[in-house]
Amino acid sequence: PRLVDDEEGGVLFFSASASSSSSSRFGYASIEKQRQRLPVYKYRTAILYLVENHATTIIVGETGSGKTTQIPQYLKEAGWAEGGRVIACTQPRRLAVQAVSARVAEEMGVTLGEEVGYTIRFEDLTNSGTTMIKFLTDGVLLREMMDDPLLTKYSVVMVDEAHERSISTDILLGLLKKIQRRRPDLRLIISSATIEAKSMSAFFQTSKRRRALEGEELGPRMDPAILSVEGRGFHVQIHFVEEPVQDYVQAAVSTVLLIHDQEPMGDILVFLTGQDDIDAAIHLLNEEAQTNRKHSSGLILLPLYSGLPRAEQELVFSPTPRGKRKVVISTNIAETSLTLEGIVYLVDSGFSKQKFYNPISDIENLVVAPISKASARQRAGRAGRVRPGKCYRLYTEEYFSKEMSAEGIPEMQRSNLVSCVIQLKALGIDNILGFDWPASPSPEAMIRALEILYSLGILDDDAKLTSPAGFQVAEIPLEPMISKMILSSNELGCSEEILTIAAVLSVQSIWVYGRGVHRELDEAKLRFAAAEGDHVTFLNVYKGFLQSGKSSQWCHKNHVNYHAMKKVVEIREQLRRIAQRLGIVVKSCERDMQVVRKAVTAGFFANACRLEAFSHSGMYKTVRGSHEVYIHPSSVLFRVNPKWVVYHSLVSTDRQYMRNVISIDPSWLIEAAPHFYQHHGQNSFGK
Ligand code: ADP
Ligand code: MG
Repeated sequence: PRLVDDEEGGVLFFSASASSSSSSRFGYASIEKQRQRLPVYKYRTAILYLVENHATTIIVGETGSGKTTQIPQYLKEAGWAEGGRVIACTQPRRLAVQAVSARVAEEMGVTLGEEVGYTIRFEDLTNSGTTMIKFLTDGVLLREMMDDPLLTKYSVVMVDEAHERSISTDILLGLLKKIQRRRPDLRLIISSATIEAKSMSAFFQTSKRRRALEGEELGPRMDPAILSVEGRGFHVQIHFVEEPVQDYVQAAVSTVLLIHDQEPMGDILVFLTGQDDIDAAIHLLNEEAQTNRKHSSGLILLPLYSGLPRAEQELVFSPTPRGKRKVVISTNIAETSLTLEGIVYLVDSGFSKQKFYNPISDIENLVVAPISKASARQRAGRAGRVRPGKCYRLYTEEYFSKEMSAEGIPEMQRSNLVSCVIQLKALGIDNILGFDWPASPSPEAMIRALEILYSLGILDDDAKLTSPAGFQVAEIPLEPMISKMILSSNELGCSEEILTIAAVLSVQSIWVYGRGVHRELDEAKLRFAAAEGDHVTFLNVYKGFLQSGKSSQWCHKNHVNYHAMKKVVEIREQLRRIAQRLGIVVKSCERDMQVVRKAVTAGFFANACRLEAFSHSGMYKTVRGSHEVYIHPSSVLFRVNPKWVVYHSLVSTDRQYMRNVISIDPSWLIEAAPHFYQHHGQNSFGK
């Protein structure tokens, strides 16, 4: 079938091929009825029996079968939350934590934050007296171990979405395995959509000898139980494009319009990679709505990505009004973490944003990269929730069968390990290479992390946390480099400013992006731009926001993201409290931006770059690895190209781009990290 002509020069053709599964109909019903119709309901007794009798239970079930929302409730109903104990359920993503806890509170008819609560970084909606079921990110549970290493308040910990293999999930699994030996009363549930149940089971298998030594008959069985919940997805017809597409955002937009034109009612879910391309797609669809009403009337366009304000999240879950068609444009958060009812059509770009780390160059990058076959199958499955559906893949069948990798790589093996190492150290785990990992990190990455932590003054010669700096850094719930920057600001007398910068670096972006608004955004930025760089620019935006009385109109006028700024104010307040607890004097340096730049350098010296002499293309080389990088066009220093800079993070598209950049004086690098730059000697910093 012919798809649609688009001006950007492509006609898309899809061919059909098949894949399947089966089952029954989901109507409107009371919440209790709805709960009983979920596939896990049939396994309620079995699940409770296994959890009672096994230290670890592995539960595999298709997305939407009720694992996340039901199992914690079953456990509560069976008494696992009695006597002040708490049932924990972890998720890799913050947005999932919020959405799922809200749903469970609704099902239980209670106020979120009481019997059912959630905790994510910088946001705690629980009540220590009444909360029985607590949803939290895996990262937050790791932090809780710093105060309570045996997690004594929890009776059951459900590690959900284990197939995602986030770095925090993997660390958590290793630590929970240790805790289990000391706490026979603790139960673990590992749940996921596609887990390699056998390898997970092997990981939790304790050797027979150890079991004999520890006297298994006294507690639950130590061998893990595996339960598979049968799904009930409908048949999903798969369509591939016949020719590779040039621009997947444009192709996704065309496909949505084609579906809307030619297919019966039913909602559409589109997988793109991040806020930027999601906003771009929505912008294009809105434009289409203005120029060609017939084409797009009746479409309700909804973005879905982390950092989305609560009110907008709720729209995604609310029922579609009669005669309308919902189009949810999402990151891979909707792949398995969230269930959207009513999706019949699925558009899969074939990409997601992924982290990649190269320990040789010490460069970590966020890259738009191809997904795996496992992900592609998960995505397709989302179209078969309520009735038979259709999945449109924006890649060719040949590409799918010949080039896509079967499975993704665990995040542990493609990340910088600085945060991971410091967390384990803070928990007293000294032999990190010997730690029992579900997937071992590379020794090179580990050594890099140790080296940087040593240079930051966080680890000493024996690779132990230094006192007080190391312990303080571990205490602050931020990347160690940002935490170090905060500690240094205390000595430099600019903690007011650095706390603001740290808060801004903790949100995704304070600017409003979108295709077609580049020029306006650039002009808006000029109003705040500081010659020193982005970090100082953030201070100007923050000041303007406060002076406007935190006005949303002010934000709108200046292309500043109002929700992000409100979040910045909140996070800053929490960081201020943490800083005070650590004995940091909150003090402003007034106009002296040199100390602010020095404090940034004290944290981020490892990200120092130097402009290549005679380079008119703005090419920089990293000081450490001589790696080629460029200033990102979104930076206020783009085209300014100061000779020396440090950056906060890298993104990679056609080139490696530095995001959030500040100019520095190279002598500060040697001041900040003599050890780190020792090989270079003074000469490589030649003026
Ligand atoms: P799983 O964890 O197995 O993927 P969930 O427990 O998340 O499944 O979802 C089970 C069912 O609960 C979904 O199929 C859906 O019907 C319903 N549900 C979950 N979250 C929401 C929500 N926020 N709004 C409405 N219904 C929801
Ligand atoms: Mg789930």
